[in-house]
Amino acid sequence: MIPMKKRYIIRLSGIVQGVGYRPFVYRKALEHNICGWVNNTGAAVIIDAEGEEYKLRIFITDIIRYTPVLASVEKCEITQEKLRGYGNFEIKQSTEEMSTARFISPDIGVCAKCMEEVSDPNSRRYRYSFTNCTDCGPRYSIIKGLPYDRHNTVMKKFSQCGKCSEEYNNPESRRYHTQPNCCSDCGPSLFLTDCRGNVIDCDDPITKTVQYVKEGRIAAIKGIGGFHLCCDAFNPEAINELRRRKSRPHKPFAVMAANIDSVLKHCELSNYEQELLSSVKRPIVLLRKKENSLLPGSIAPGLKRLGMMLPYSPLHYLLFDEGINLLIMTSGNTGGAPIQYENRESIHRLNEIADFFLLHNQDIYNPIDDSVVKAAAGKEMVIRRARGYIPYAQKLSESDETIALGAEEKSTICVAHSGYAYMSRYLGDLKDFDTYEQYVSEVKKMSSLYQFKPKVYVHDLHPQYMSSRYASEQQGGIASVQHHHAHMASCMMEHKLYDNVIGVVFDGTGLGDNGSIWGGEFLLGNRKSFQRAGHLKAVLLQGGDMAIKEPWRCAAAYLYQLGYDPEDFLEEVSGTDIRIVKQALASNLNCHLSSSMGRLFDCAASIIGIRQSITYDAQAAIELENIIDASIDDQHYSYSINENNDMLEIDYSAIISDLLIDRKCRVSASVMSAKFHNTISKAAVDMLIKLRERHQINQTVLSGGVFENMYLLESVYKKLRDEGFTVYFNQQVPINDSGISVGQLAVAAEALGR
Ligand code: ZN
Ligand code: ZN
Ligand code: FE
Repeated sequence: MIPMKKRYIIRLSGIVQGVGYRPFVYRKALEHNICGWVNNTGAAVIIDAEGEEYKLRIFITDIIRYTPVLASVEKCEITQEKLRGYGNFEIKQSTEEMSTARFISPDIGVCAKCMEEVSDPNSRRYRYSFTNCTDCGPRYSIIKGLPYDRHNTVMKKFSQCGKCSEEYNNPESRRYHTQPNCCSDCGPSLFLTDCRGNVIDCDDPITKTVQYVKEGRIAAIKGIGGFHLCCDAFNPEAINELRRRKSRPHKPFAVMAANIDSVLKHCELSNYEQELLSSVKRPIVLLRKKENSLLPGSIAPGLKRLGMMLPYSPLHYLLFDEGINLLIMTSGNTGGAPIQYENRESIHRLNEIADFFLLHNQDIYNPIDDSVVKAAAGKEMVIRRARGYIPYAQKLSESDETIALGAEEKSTICVAHSGYAYMSRYLGDLKDFDTYEQYVSEVKKMSSLYQFKPKVYVHDLHPQYMSSRYASEQQGGIASVQHHHAHMASCMMEHKLYDNVIGVVFDGTGLGDNGSIWGGEFLLGNRKSFQRAGHLKAVLLQGGDMAIKEPWRCAAAYLYQLGYDPEDFLEEVSGTDIRIVKQALASNLNCHLSSSMGRLFDCAASIIGIRQSITYDAQAAIELENIIDASIDDQHYSYSINENNDMLEIDYSAIISDLLIDRKCRVSASVMSAKFHNTISKAAVDMLIKLRERHQINQTVLSGGVFENMYLLESVYKKLRDEGFTVYFNQQVPINDSGISVGQLAVAAEALGR
């Protein structure tokens, strides 16, 4: 019997561009005797496949299930068509198809096969820093437009040599249609300059760099998404000098380790953490430092966690080739400014920090920082979504051309287009002028990349945020979303939740819809709307942003409110300063009501004596978490939950007075910190139990920057699950303010009725 032949048109959309999908389909077609063609439209891969029915089935299963490393199929449509009688299988040229979903691959760490070539003295890519293939290398950082073809990337200026072209055009080669394909004969090259930009003559810029770093010098190294500032992680003088020049006294530095073994010498590593660390996305992973690690404490002062990453470009591997195992690799920027990514500008901006520059002549079109992740409650939690994790697309129920502008610090933007929400890279604090400039240019870049014209601008309720001001300057509709509702919705979006939830949003600052500052919130509702059902009791804080930078000001406000004299408890602070705050509080001068959980943590850190002023975001709370005595898991302070016109309120009075008693009794800071954390966790769970009784809602979402605190997050998560709640927290969309834009879009898509 002659087997039955069939013909299907298969349309796959998702990340299918620039990831080797067509040659992959081609090889599978040959394997299963399928005739027809494959084509890439910019939004989808289309396959016209003809063959014996059972083979076609295997073929279709194969191309969906065993996709290339970088591919991710979002949607698959199959239709049966009349037989055409194709005689072979071919790969057709890319065609452009507009106004449909557009997916771009993130930048991916160099693969093992490429590194084999880079390490092989007989390979033509021996020690070549820009080696890449279909499975690895830069994508997002070099793309200027779609479809993803060489002429739409920064590689346009390098034409491939004969050997490279051959690979590029051969469907059997793993560099078939690899857009950034290159070699030392035809591709970008490295060079070294001093801090003024004068070229340093040398045989091998990498060998020279390693030599300088070993001597204790600080390098600025141009990588995939921008510059790193780099020094020897075992040289305390170099680290201190880097801190001094960068004016960054405490904020932890990330470390790049040669390999997993080097990480294991200094950090505890679960299997899951190892998986995160070695994934092709190559993020910085926050790991527990081993007690016997000999790494200088100045890498992450006062902290038990270290941000570690593995090399992700051939250049990085080559830096470790020469006997250095750990390098400080911190973003190449000054203060809160964005990461530097252009040669001239970087030399101009970083010449007082770096002693020399390792540069190359490949441009970076979309600068992007390293991503930061950690494992919380056994799940990946992305804290900073950037290289390897961007672009990030989420299905949206309905969408018009809407752009959400995020909050202020840790800003991101998010655009809604063709049924998807696309999140931008992490941009940073908009109060910094350069960051704001990049923010504005990011809106333009995303609009052009996604062929998108914003019709509605969604912004935070806070009118003074730069993002809100930006919205008001645009032509088009504008809509505002309350900050904590956006946090809650960001978590709902990620977990595809639509029904009512109880949202627990603990964070630093956000304007509430009653005009006061919120941040210890229990919200009831869904993506479309919410109602405030409970909160941390508000306190009158004094000094605006000063209260955030100097936690003792929070403590003084809490103490004053409760009738204590702050001067009796804050010995480390000058009496004059405290008296000024007291007078201002008494006359309600520059004061605002705040129910922020972040500020209560600051207050506790100050009373316990951890920290009175900070040099980086949330430093006091982070250090407070760091000293927890984890064996104290059953003790907590007193607190009460009051009811006020149907509104539940966590009263902090007893918490503060218990803290003062422990202080008087000289209870250790570690024990006090544990008891304080346990109290907040228990109070949150009590609130939820009451709210569940009243409103019959069992689904809860945890969001807001305070939940970056792992002890708190894991403790609340576990207790809620023990109580039978269904609990979600942000994992892929950051739990801090860089997830706000995603939440704003989720709210807008529902509330604007589109
Ligand atoms: Zn490769
Ligand atoms: Zn070449
Ligand atoms: Fe927030």
